[in-house]
Amino acid sequence: MHDVISPVTEQVVATVPSSSVEETDAAIARAHEAFRTWRAVAPGDRARLLRRFAALVDEHNEELAQLEVRNSGHTIGNARWEAGNVRDVLNYYAGAPERLSGRQIPVAGGMDVTFYEPLGVVGVIVPWNFPMPIAGWGFAPALAAGNTVVLKPAELTPLTAIRLGELALDAGLPEGVFTVLPGKGSVVGERFVTHPLVRKVCFTGSTEVGKRIMAGCAEQVKRVTLELGGKSANIVFADADLARAAAGAPGAVFDNAGQDCCARSRLLVQSSVYDRFMGLLEEAVKAFRCEDPALESAQMGPLISAGQLSSVRSYVDQPLFAGSAPDGPGYWMAPTVIEASSVQDRHWREEIFGPVLSVLRFDDEADAIRLANDTEYGLSGSIWTGDLGRGIRVARGVEAGNLSVNSNSSVRYWTPFGGVKQSGLGRELGPDALAAFSEVKNVFFSTEV
Ligand code: NAD
Repeated sequence: MHDVISPVTEQVVATVPSSSVEETDAAIARAHEAFRTWRAVAPGDRARLLRRFAALVDEHNEELAQLEVRNSGHTIGNARWEAGNVRDVLNYYAGAPERLSGRQIPVAGGMDVTFYEPLGVVGVIVPWNFPMPIAGWGFAPALAAGNTVVLKPAELTPLTAIRLGELALDAGLPEGVFTVLPGKGSVVGERFVTHPLVRKVCFTGSTEVGKRIMAGCAEQVKRVTLELGGKSANIVFADADLARAAAGAPGAVFDNAGQDCCARSRLLVQSSVYDRFMGLLEEAVKAFRCEDPALESAQMGPLISAGQLSSVRSYVDQPLFAGSAPDGPGYWMAPTVIEASSVQDRHWREEIFGPVLSVLRFDDEADAIRLANDTEYGLSGSIWTGDLGRGIRVARGVEAGNLSVNSNSSVRYWTPFGGVKQSGLGRELGPDALAAFSEVKNVFFSTEV
């Protein structure tokens, strides 16, 4: 058994079982058995079941959101969005089973067709920072493509995933089609990698663990999708709407207390407007509301754990300025801004995964692109400019999977999401996600007599 601690109160909110290797093997065997029938469910019926699942998630939006506030300290506004995202992603991919068509390719001597075949059992491994959405980005397209799913939530944040597993059964998904297995990464997660009946691992988490998973999957040439760390840049040019860029910058890094793989944790500001921009930023950071996440007004809650808090604090030596945070119980840290003295500063280079923004100035466009790309990561980023041509040039020049120009939003379920370099491998969401959960089969029918 494992105690789940509220990061707001530091009290135990639930105790959940830690699945053993034997229990994991039994769940994988059941998922393998269920695959035989699930893949054969008519496309329209599979779509209907996923829509019913989405409707139940919608009916339980408030319950799921409150559970996330208790377990993870997410702000209530964010948590409602996150449960809504699971509903939307389920509805979006519920449209897929009836549209997952292959091709008919002209060839000599017969007819050639391709099929999208499901893979079998898919193992989804979820981190603690966005327990609901990241689970949904894996299980919804995997199920739609005809796979069965075993899902391991993070040890710190299993509660909403467990509830989603119950709702799936209530919606009528057959037993074994979607199983949530709380437990340790080194036990349940590792078993997804080593068990031959798990045909794909869909992993979101740290780059360090992702590399181990990729190496483990290589043993069986197992399919793998990796969504890993980030150190994304927010680039502000002198010709930008500085007031808008400054108003958006705190949310772009401090949302979810900075525990966001897409956090714009490196701020690059053009030298000629540096002082003016930093004045605007200071005002915005000081107005950012870090408070009890159950309050409707909260923009940021606590960090997830005592360990995370001490790790994040270790990066902050001489802050330039900071916002405020509550005292008392809870893993609180005020949103903090630090100036980088060079690109070698540890806080500039490493993914901190907390409410810390590092700032550096740049001279011109080429300098901005060079500095933005001077990292092993490449997940996300923002470009603020009033010059359309520059927006296009810089967006093409920055090495990242998801960029936004004059905006900080990275995630829309209609569009592909994923990283380049050490931020990941493969893409989730968007119209092509089904391809990552299918195998193309080619069949030639001879017409020779
Ligand atoms: P983590 O790598 O420690 O854990 C992620 C998951 O992997 C957890 O469920 C954990 O139990 C499991 N795990 C740990 N060791 C394992 C092993 N040996 N085998 C199999 N599974 C194992 O990451 P975390 O601390 O939970 O999450 C934070 C990290 O996730 C950050 O680096 C963040 O950038 C990244 N992240 C990336 C994205 C993205 O889409 N690119 C999204 C969210 C988070």
